[in-house]
Amino acid sequence: MTTTRSLCSRGPLISAEGLNGVGKTYLTNRAVEAIETKPLMLDEFSQRANGRPGLGEALLQSLREASAGDPFLRGGTPMAEALLLMAIKRHDLDTVLPDLVHGRTVVEGRSVDTTAVCQALLLHPDNPDAALKTAVDLLGLASSYRPLPDLTILVTDDASKALERAQWRDRCVFTDEQAEFMRKACVLFERLAATDPVRYQVVDRRHVDEYEAADLIRECIEGAGGDLACLVEPWQGPGAGCMCCGQPTKAEAA
Ligand SMILES: [Zn+2]
Repeated sequence: MTTTRSLCSRGPLISAEGLNGVGKTYLTNRAVEAIETKPLMLDEFSQRANGRPGLGEALLQSLREASAGDPFLRGGTPMAEALLLMAIKRHDLDTVLPDLVHGRTVVEGRSVDTTAVCQALLLHPDNPDAALKTAVDLLGLASSYRPLPDLTILVTDDASKALERAQWRDRCVFTDEQAEFMRKACVLFERLAATDPVRYQVVDRRHVDEYEAADLIRECIEGAGGDLACLVEPWQGPGAGCMCCGQPTKAEAA
C-alpha cells in the first residue's frame, strides 16, 4: 500500500472478503449492529448485486451480460475482466472518498482481493502455486488503480459449507465445475491472506460459531481507526497531496 507515516484524519477503509455463501455480508451486518457509530457499508459486486447506481453498476452489468449468468462473472477473458473489476473498485473508492475525508469508517463488501483470487485461478486453473503468485501480482496491479484497503477481513469456512449456503440462498445448484472453482478459491483466499498478516484478519468459521465470528468482525472494524497514514494517489506517487486530507505526503523510507 502506498502510504506515508504522516497521521491523517481520514476514516479507515476496510473490506470483507470470502467465498460466496461464507456468510460475510450476514456476519458483517450483525457486527455493525453492535457498533454505535455506523460505518458506511458498500455492497459487494456479484451476479446478485443489483441497483448500485452509476458507472460501477454499468460496468458490472456489462460483466454480467458477457458471462451469461455465471455466478463468478466469468466471460472467458480473465485479464480484461480483471481490469474492469479493478475499475469498478476504483469507482467504489471514488464514491466513498467524501466519507473517508470526514473520518467515517467504510466497509466494502468484496474488494480487490476477490478479483485477484478469481482471476488468478482462471489464469492458472491447475497450478496452485502459479495462481498464488499471480494473485499477489494482481493485487500489485490493483494497487496502481487505487490504494488497497487498510484492513481486509477474510471470512472463511469449509468450501462445502459455503457451497451449501450459497445454493440454498440463491436457490440454485452449482455445477461440479463451479463447485470445484469454489473449492480452489477457498484455498487460494487463505493462502493469499497468509502472505500479508498485517492487512488480513482471518475469521475462520471452522473454529468459531456465528456469534463469535460476528464479534471478531466487530472488533476488527472498531480497531481499525486511529493512527492511519495518508492515502497517496497511486498513479501520482509520493509528493502529491493526500487523497483525503490534502497534506503533502512523502516517500516512506524503504
Ligand atoms: Zn491524509
